[in-house]
Amino acid sequence: MRIGGTARYFAELTTKEDVEEAYVFAQKNNLPLIVLGSGSNTIFADGEIAVLIIRITAAHLTIQPSNHPTTTIDVASGKNLPMLINEIAKVGLDLSPLTGIPGTVGGAIFGNAGQGPKGIWIGNYVQSVTAFMNEEWKEFSKEECTFRYRESVWKDAPPFVAEDRDLPLQMAPIIWSVTLNIPHDDPTIIKEKIELLLKRRIETQPHQRTAGSCFKAIGENPAWQLIDAAGLRGMKHGGVQISEKHANFLISEKGATFEDAVKVVSVVKEKIPEKLEVEMRFIKTNGSLAY
Ligand SMILES: Cc1cc2nc3c(=O)[nH]c(=O)nc-3n(C[C@H](O)[C@H](O)[C@H](O)COP(=O)(O)OP(=O)(O)OC[C@H]3O[C@@H](n4cnc5c(N)ncnc54)[C@H](O)[C@@H]3O)c2cc1C
Repeated sequence: MRIGGTARYFAELTTKEDVEEAYVFAQKNNLPLIVLGSGSNTIFADGEIAVLIIRITAAHLTIQPSNHPTTTIDVASGKNLPMLINEIAKVGLDLSPLTGIPGTVGGAIFGNAGQGPKGIWIGNYVQSVTAFMNEEWKEFSKEECTFRYRESVWKDAPPFVAEDRDLPLQMAPIIWSVTLNIPHDDPTIIKEKIELLLKRRIETQPHQRTAGSCFKAIGENPAWQLIDAAGLRGMKHGGVQISEKHANFLISEKGATFEDAVKVVSVVKEKIPEKLEVEMRFIKTNGSLAY
């Protein structure tokens, strides 16, 4: 949404050793560590954010040989998800149900990105995930990832508190790589499916400064329907507005602030209590989440 200030520290990490080094740096400097993918579902407060922000730039992709109905691929969390979908489509591997979701593989795994509550999510394809969590490397089996609609074990994780510390210091888990089992299809058919899904997105979603869906419905009705029914489609505060085209998308114009976005969200939460959770990540200046 192009809102927000600057991080006190920012590091791009290409190796597992970089990850460990960044972790130690954050602890030594008493700074929360936050992982950023492409930022397609995150906004930051204005001003200086007193944190270490890391971005995984490792983007390797290995396709295992296979004669099963699926092929196993290993991919680094920094890989751009739309690029991955297009690349593997050319060799007949079909990840097309995730078409149109911007961001990195790491961001998608963290939030189990995908279609709606009854659709296909990235978790459906996962065999295992390697992540640095609570000061150690661990390979998580699919079951251990506890994927649910837009949820995962990493999203559930409370701030990790190191043993030698009294105060909680938020050290985010770091997803490093993932092993996926991808079904096969004809490359031409996959290409057609991708094009169709992109066309549908263009028809139904705004193509301006946005961070995608802001809310997640708790009950049966989709978030956009609840927001619409409450008469909030198009509602605006400062430079942030609920999109006229898709009532679950916030859009922003030049000069919009974090506070504008927070205000819009609080109005929605006031009018539709107990039925919506905030899915987007709103990061405050001390690194904690606004919701
Ligand atoms: C136009 C538009 C359409 C969208 N459509 C969809 C959709 O259909 N379905 C859907 O699910 N989402 C959708 N989104 C939301 C968003 O694209 C996804 O949530 C995406 O997976 C976020 O990836 P990212 O890399 O941008 O994550 P970021 O926004 O950078 O981060 C999101 C969260 O993931 C964490 N994270 C990122 N990388 C890692 C890592 N390596 N290790 C640990 N944590 C990490 C971050 O700390 C943060 O908490 C849409 C967004 C836009 C703008």
